[in-house]
Amino acid sequence: MQHYPKSIRNLIRQLSRLPGIGEKTAERLAMHVLKAPADQAQALAESILQVKRSVQHCQQCFGLSDGPVCQICQDPGRDRDLVCVVEQPADMMSVEKAGCFKGLYHILGGVLSPMDGIGPDRLRLEQLWRRVDSGQVKEVILATSTSVEGEATASFIAQRLAGRPVKVSRIASGIPMGGDIKYVDQMTLKRAIWGRHAC
Ligand SMILES: [Zn+2]
Repeated sequence: MQHYPKSIRNLIRQLSRLPGIGEKTAERLAMHVLKAPADQAQALAESILQVKRSVQHCQQCFGLSDGPVCQICQDPGRDRDLVCVVEQPADMMSVEKAGCFKGLYHILGGVLSPMDGIGPDRLRLEQLWRRVDSGQVKEVILATSTSVEGEATASFIAQRLAGRPVKVSRIASGIPMGGDIKYVDQMTLKRAIWGRHAC
């Protein structure tokens, strides 16, 4: 890399700091940027700066937003009775991509993990209780991951919401599409049987 001019070396170094980008790929991307028209390179640089400048957490769901309240929370077509609780903004994007959920979200910002010192006060739980207590929410869908921490977090929320006038449900889990029963682990198979539904 030493034979490149300093400015190109710097670009390669910055690009290789991105996740999943090794030095070879960074070199290829840097060459691409170099060959691209000036306006395209400028648009790339500006979009990076813009993201850092304007993206913030939505005040209601804590998803990513260009303003104080995100597009989903502002959308009058969304079902405001339903709140899907997820760990991170990326999880919310996945549910959105599935295209089958038309309610609102609540992003916890992680999961309970006593080993890592993450207790309830480190998640956006107080904000969730407040949303539920506002009386607008009729059902909370717990869509945390099926890891030990994700399950513990879902149980914790379900226990804390018990007694409040809100329905609490957990997303079903089981055999993935195209999955072969004989290769599925015992826990997944157990859950699939517990969570069975009528045909
Ligand atoms: Zn929002």
